[in-house]
Parts: sequence; C-alpha cells; structure tokens
Amino acid sequence: MPKIKHETIPIRCVLADEKAGACTAVEHTTLPLCKFHIEDLERTIKRIREADHLRESLTEKGGEAFLFNRKSGTVYALNTTGTFIVKEILSGKNPISLIEDMHEAFLTDSRTEAVRDLFGFLREVQKTDLIASLGNYESK
Ligand SMILES: [Zn+2]
Repeated sequence: MPKIKHETIPIRCVLADEKAGACTAVEHTTLPLCKFHIEDLERTIKRIREADHLRESLTEKGGEAFLFNRKSGTVYALNTTGTFIVKEILSGKNPISLIEDMHEAFLTDSRTEAVRDLFGFLREVQKTDLIASLGNYESK
C-alpha cells in the first residue's frame, strides 16, 4: 500500500508577530526561528552564562531550583521547565540544541511551542533583578 509521508518545514519565524520587520529569513530546516532571532537568543544566553552571580546563586531541590539575589535578598523559584532551561544554558548549550532538548524533554507538540516557552521564560528572567542590568535580548 503506497503511503504519503509529510513533514512541515518552517517558513515563518515564531516571533514574526511580536516585532514586525525585525525578522529575517528562516534558514534552519526544523527550527521556526529567523536568523535575527537566533542571534538575539545567542546573545541573551551568553549574558546569562557570563553572569557569575546567577550561576553561584542556583540551588536545586528535587526537580526545582531557586535563584537567590544576595544583594536584594530576593529568592526566585523556578519550576521544572525553568530549572531545565537555566541548567542547559549554564552547561553551555547553544540555542538550537536547547530548543531540541526542550522539545524532547517536555514532549511539546512542536518546536514552535518550545521556542515560545523559551522566549517567555527568558523574558521573565530578564525582569528579575538578577540580570536586569544585563540588557534585553530584544534590544537592537
Ligand atoms: Zn524572527
């Protein structure tokens, strides 16, 4: 019996709706992110990785983790997904592998969902006083 198998190649950036005009072509065959946003993500990940105070303040408990700001005394609790993302970033994962890992670990329906989760989380992290001074990944 002949069968037709299909897969969808992403042609549109997940973040195209959020910042009109910023997106460039989608080059990756499985990842629905344009080059501009991949580079943006790489910069944010690099900033987080270089934030020594963030690395030092990470405490794990079960599947969850806490980030403690010694200066302000604020404790941030991360859920399982947040913990996973922070650990992957600190371990040196690049954005594409990170999204693949999230897609596999949390069985998201698509990589689009993983990308949205990741950007949503990074947005939250950047609102905290832990890396507030490090800038925004959307700045350019
Ligand atoms: Zn884009």
